Amino acid sequence: MSYHNLEFTIHNLITMQHPENDDIYKGLTVNAGIEQPSMINPYMKPKKRKRLFTPAEYVEGIVKGDITMLSRAVTLVESLLPEHQAIAQEVIEKCLPHTGQSVRIGISGVPGAGKSTSIDAFGLHVLERYGGKLAVLAIDPSSEKTKGSILGDKTRMEKLSVHPDAFIRPSPSAGSLGGVARKTRETIVLCEAAGFDKIFVETVGVGQSETAVHSMVDFFLLIQLAGTGDELQGIKRGIMEMADGIVINKADGDNAERAELAASHFRNALHLFPAPESGWTPQVLTYSGFYGLRIDQVWTMVFDYVDFVKKNGYFDHRRNEQAKYWMYESINEALRDSFYHNPTIASLLTCKERQVLDGELTSFVAARQLLDVYFKG
Ligand code: GDP
Repeated sequence: MSYHNLEFTIHNLITMQHPENDDIYKGLTVNAGIEQPSMINPYMKPKKRKRLFTPAEYVEGIVKGDITMLSRAVTLVESLLPEHQAIAQEVIEKCLPHTGQSVRIGISGVPGAGKSTSIDAFGLHVLERYGGKLAVLAIDPSSEKTKGSILGDKTRMEKLSVHPDAFIRPSPSAGSLGGVARKTRETIVLCEAAGFDKIFVETVGVGQSETAVHSMVDFFLLIQLAGTGDELQGIKRGIMEMADGIVINKADGDNAERAELAASHFRNALHLFPAPESGWTPQVLTYSGFYGLRIDQVWTMVFDYVDFVKKNGYFDHRRNEQAKYWMYESINEALRDSFYHNPTIASLLTCKERQVLDGELTSFVAARQLLDVYFKG
């Protein structure tokens, strides 16, 4: 120990001060700390973790139509914890034989199009007119950023949320769009096993999420508004091509005429598209979700479509195609996860990225090298 350090330590021992209060640290004063309490609020009871059931218990509850069990199983599906995922996957597998007997409808529209108002009205109409049980799920790609789901929020569907035959679940919020979509698809399985024979999957009409919803539903309903006359330019061709039906909302009061005009524009535009594989000609209707006008026509269209494609075999064909699509999506997602969570890859990624940015490696060579490490390592 150097002379200075020895003197420093002795000085501290004598004065019992914090070492950083020594004169050599001029301008710095560190107070002696206080003893930390064991808990900030000693009266607060530690939160009890909900007991996990066995997969068989979840399945038994779900198949009996027990909503609490269904909700808990959905929470496991959405959880990122490996132990929850393991149970969830087993529950899904055991629920599969009880599924498939439903009609799945995707509902899309830009924010403000009237999705929540419409779904509230649509849901009540469908339950009243056709009976059965309805689950409303959602895919909201923005919910990861906002850390709260916009879609599927119960308060947005006032009447439906208190209906005994309706189950409303907000969008899962964690992960990529693919991950969120997979969780919604798995939730469909659980809901169907619980006896829900009508499933609505809602999504915001902005970008990729429609493709995800389209890949899990039997009918894709696009909600539009009569706008400034250039509404057709605003929506992407791909989204219109996906639609099995386009409905113009808010066809009430002064807006009724403009809604009819918009509908004829959409009908003309649809004529320019190639005939859909289903053999069904997509229809364009106007309605008012808020005032409950012509909602019956919207649903007659949806169920006419279902009858039509069940007869011509397209209903089963589309479901088979979707099953195939999801198999590949699951493989892609698992491979991606395994690659990026590999510790060697994680440690090399930034370095390779830098080399690409500095022009030392091309993107392809960098990717090849990383993949070689992954597959051979
Ligand atoms: P979302 O963002 O697509 O879920 O749209 P909302 O259901 O929240 O509706 C947006 C706004 O449009 C609200 O102020 C609704 O009251 C209004 N709205 C919804 N449907 C109708 C309708 O059929 N007619 C009229 N006039 N307004 C409506």
